[in-house]
Amino acid sequence: MPVITGEDYKKRIDAMESEVWFDGAKVTGKISDHPAFKGVVGTQSQLYDMQNESKIKNEMTFASETTGNDIGVSYLIPRTRADLEKRRIMIQHWARISGGLMGRSPDYMNTVLASFASSVDVLDGEDNCYPDRLLHFYEYAREKDLSFTHTFVNPQSNRSKLAFLEEDVTNARIIDRNEEGLIIKGAKLLATQGGITDEILVFSAPGAQESCHAYGFSLPTDTDGLKFVCRESFATKDSSFDYPLSSRFAEMDTIVIFDGVLVPWNRVFFHDNIRAATQMYLKGKFVPFTLHQIVSRQIVKTEFLLGIAQSIVDTINISDYQHVQSKVVEIVKGLETLRALLLMSEHDAKIDGYGVMVPSKQPLYVAVNQFQELYPRFTEIIQLLGASGLMTIPKETDFDTEIGEQLDHFLQGVEVKGKDRVALFRLAWDLTMSGFGSRQTLYERFFFGDPVRLSQTIYQNFDETKSKKMIEDFLSLKE
Ligand SMILES: Cc1cc2nc3c(=O)[nH]c(=O)nc-3n(C[C@H](O)[C@H](O)[C@H](O)COP(=O)(O)OP(=O)(O)OC[C@H]3O[C@@H](n4cnc5c(N)ncnc54)[C@H](O)[C@@H]3O)c2cc1C
Repeated sequence: MPVITGEDYKKRIDAMESEVWFDGAKVTGKISDHPAFKGVVGTQSQLYDMQNESKIKNEMTFASETTGNDIGVSYLIPRTRADLEKRRIMIQHWARISGGLMGRSPDYMNTVLASFASSVDVLDGEDNCYPDRLLHFYEYAREKDLSFTHTFVNPQSNRSKLAFLEEDVTNARIIDRNEEGLIIKGAKLLATQGGITDEILVFSAPGAQESCHAYGFSLPTDTDGLKFVCRESFATKDSSFDYPLSSRFAEMDTIVIFDGVLVPWNRVFFHDNIRAATQMYLKGKFVPFTLHQIVSRQIVKTEFLLGIAQSIVDTINISDYQHVQSKVVEIVKGLETLRALLLMSEHDAKIDGYGVMVPSKQPLYVAVNQFQELYPRFTEIIQLLGASGLMTIPKETDFDTEIGEQLDHFLQGVEVKGKDRVALFRLAWDLTMSGFGSRQTLYERFFFGDPVRLSQTIYQNFDETKSKKMIEDFLSLKE
């Protein structure tokens, strides 16, 4: 099957009837019509349609090595630097539709699955590991253009270093292994886009202490006993003037409950193997591939923020002030740094023993860890530039009343009528202050892991030997 269309995607998720809990009730009827999901499902459909646009089809797809069908580039396992570039171009095409605000557009998880499939050597010869099943599943997903949510992290009930001494009563764990497969009970978080994808990919995060917590599998999201519990929606309003971002790009986050869920053996990639669970992340290609996707998106997001900041500056005419210029330049510096780090990771990419072109990990780690600090600062800059403009934002309906003309007059900016100026400031507000905007900040801070431990990882991986040697040589210099 070649790449799907938006309509195919909608039909598939509507037909699934996954168990999704929202605001005290199970979602019934078509999930694509539900107010909490309608906007983002519409945008996601647009992304799938883009894969079929003749003008860019050769940038969005590649020919499957097994069927010859057109496959989405986000599933491509890169073999050359040109493949990495092709991946970047595709990812950024999709990211531009949402200004990089959909962290879980399908390319994110397709990349994750491709990274796991290209790391199956880690599972070779290990107990309870089935590399062939993972490879086969990757091919199945790639050919069907499946969409994924995922959950890797355990509930936050006890994060003490000594938590393993306590009895585990919350984390999703294997409670039985029978002829049919594994039985999983417990919870995991936080599945963004839970309920609006074909599948859920479930992997243990590194650090499992007991073998019942060390597994990797994938399931259709309508599997019996699987429940997705939503938070409050940030997307219940339709108007794209009033809520330019949250009406279209609000991805839901869900807690996942496994209520004695059966995972059939053909969907189990490994189980009861702590070393395999850890090595899939540490030795496998998950980190470099996923970070390459992430940083490609974050660059587009930074361009989007820069556009908003500069538009505010021009609309209220504050560009002559030095501090204003340096605030905009902070965003420019972030953008140029991200671009440089991404290109560096491609420039330093190396072919591994399996013929896969792996981007250099270190620049990407630095980029994503830096973005965890840069992004909240960028939103702060937009608030500092926008000031009260972020609160003088009547709704579209106000402009359609008898006071509409007055609003157009009193809220005007430089060479723009009040309504156009308000449209810009509502965009800035939705990005930096609405529920949707606050979640965006939390997302960029945490979605790829805790910033503190990420910087620790950079410290542990960076080789300082050359720099230390410089100092030794310098200190031993005699006159
Ligand atoms: C909007 C959003 C969407 C997300 N989407 C997904 C998703 O789709 N799938 C998924 O699997 N996950 C998702 N996540 C979860 C994400 O992976 C985690 O938030 C991240 O790994 C941090 O874990 P935590 O939230 O449990 O924080 P915790 O680990 O509980 O950290 C809380 C605080 O305690 C500190 N802390 C805890 N343990 C330590 C330690 N050992 N050493 C030092 N400090 C420590 C941290 O620094 C932090 O300040 C999402 C998160 C967010 C916010």
